[in-house]
Amino acid sequence: ELKVNQLSKSFGTLNVFTQLNLSLHSGQVYCLMGSSGSGKTTFFRILLGLEEADSGSMEGLKGQRASAVFQENRLCESFTPVDNITMVIPGRSSRSRKQAKEELLRLLPEEALSRPVSTLSGGMKRRVAIVRALSIPCDMILMDEPFTGLDENTKRTVIQYIKKKTRGKLVIISTHQEEDVALLNGTLINL
Ligand code: ATP
Repeated sequence: ELKVNQLSKSFGTLNVFTQLNLSLHSGQVYCLMGSSGSGKTTFFRILLGLEEADSGSMEGLKGQRASAVFQENRLCESFTPVDNITMVIPGRSSRSRKQAKEELLRLLPEEALSRPVSTLSGGMKRRVAIVRALSIPCDMILMDEPFTGLDENTKRTVIQYIKKKTRGKLVIISTHQEEDVALLNGTLINL
């Protein structure tokens, strides 16, 4: 449903990608792999409208609501995890708070939920960013190396949670680890 046609992007003399063609479908997980600097983040930024391609086109992006996990989390550090999630859930705040807590408890210990994000470990912040992205109503979810800083067991729990929360959506996850493709039942895209 999302078609990428002959997409090219360079920065000065550096060609990040040249005439990239992809056909992506809702309900599937795509794993974006490629060495450092191959353009994974740049591709996400183009999909999100934060960066412009030099040439080529994309079909099926219009009207798609997107949500993202960025490499640097972009959480509100002085707010608690609960507040970071509540603010993205539409509707009455008392109900959103309860919902935010329930979602966070799937990936985090209760004691972590009401401390400022700045006091959490890197891996905990990662999980808050993932819960937040999955709490935003959307059709397409982009995750830029979401598993960095997570131990193997936590990663597996997070992957089950991602699968459960993204049914029917278009999901693109960048990773450096081959095994993540199998764990996510993903389709590999090599950049
Ligand atoms: P990593 O796996 O390390 O996160 P990546 O595949 O996500 O890498 P990008 O961050 O997309 O790679 O960067 C692709 C290339 O484009 C890199 O060489 C980077 O230095 C370059 N680049 C990205 N943004 C800019 C910019 N605004 N100006 C100049 N060069 C840029």
